[in-house]
Amino acid sequence: MFEPDRVNAFTPQETPFYYYDIALLERTLDAARQAADPMGFHVHYALKANFNDRLLECVRAMGFGADCVSGNEVRKAIETGFDPGKIVFAGVGKSDKEITFALSKDIFAFNVESIQELEVIDALAAADGKKARVALRINPNVDAHTHQYITTGLDENKFGIAHWELTEAIETLRRCLHIELVGIHFHVGSQITDLNVFKSLCVKVNELNNWFDERGFRIKVLNVGGGLGVDYHEPDAQSIPDFKAYFSVFDEFLERKPGQEVHFELGRALVSQCGSLVSRVLYVKNGIKKNFLIIDAGMTELMRPALYQAYHRIENLTAQADGDRDDVVHYDVVGPICESSDCFGKEVPLPTTFRGDLIAIRTAGAYGEVMASRYNLRQEIRYVYSDLL
Ligand code: PLP
Repeated sequence: MFEPDRVNAFTPQETPFYYYDIALLERTLDAARQAADPMGFHVHYALKANFNDRLLECVRAMGFGADCVSGNEVRKAIETGFDPGKIVFAGVGKSDKEITFALSKDIFAFNVESIQELEVIDALAAADGKKARVALRINPNVDAHTHQYITTGLDENKFGIAHWELTEAIETLRRCLHIELVGIHFHVGSQITDLNVFKSLCVKVNELNNWFDERGFRIKVLNVGGGLGVDYHEPDAQSIPDFKAYFSVFDEFLERKPGQEVHFELGRALVSQCGSLVSRVLYVKNGIKKNFLIIDAGMTELMRPALYQAYHRIENLTAQADGDRDDVVHYDVVGPICESSDCFGKEVPLPTTFRGDLIAIRTAGAYGEVMASRYNLRQEIRYVYSDLL
């Protein structure tokens, strides 16, 4: 719920724009820090969730590391001032150019997703006279019970090294003189709200940790990825995820050998709730069977609903600020893009809405602005920060 004075401050702004609540972001990062530190856990922020400059600056200032999935994300993290010694680089398809760049910056580790990639990194490191630190990304075949498009740790997913390839992987590692194995890495999916999924992950990690140990590999880092979900339905009820409950699962169920570190790669949980997409109603089309609100933001600004049927809470900010519209009408809230999938929500209950009303699409701080596109030759996405409004 936005305060009326906030809505007044939005009114002169050109829409659509992302609104970032910096105070909420800082409280969220602090809560994650306060929960992770006593357990000795290391948190890397997944830049793929949002690489907006100001957000990155807040994350860096809090002392987190960075989890990158492209050479450009590695570059961006370094330019923002992240310590290269706290940068990890994941991704199923790292190009030679990206690997060479990351090697030149001496990042903490590559999360390696195939045996062939191990050989390529070894050859590129040899050519540069370097030794690359790597963590093997292992596909643990754990069901994340989330949307199929954001499940990553099942046998049918493209990510990671399958468990039946591990013997070959360690034989390769013994041959690769320019690679140092520092960790094992897992990431089973995103928007995981059932903490039992993470318990199942711990069981798999424990098994594999022992497996490597029995074969003489001293694993320094257990990287369990990210995936903690947020409340898209009630963003104000729990605007800060329960990081303590999340980390406690790993503290309780993950067996660490002496000196072993536990690393996390959180994205969504850190930045989702601080962001809203603010848009204006262009047209109201009332039909016999349907009422449409056509707003000036579309799938080009927030792709999640079109991409994986994601739910976002939609609010009429003007009506909230007016406070005198008590009726409820059900609207299909759609964007202006020439695609039928350009729809933010069907049968959304809202007060009677008029052309010009401001609409907020909540919980849009993660996987929102970063996925914006220029399709239909749309304007470049705008954003405003709460403390500069
Ligand atoms: N790490 C890896 C390898 C990922 O692919 C992702 C996203 O899917 C993340 C971390 C961040 O996940 P989340 O935003 O769900 O915390």
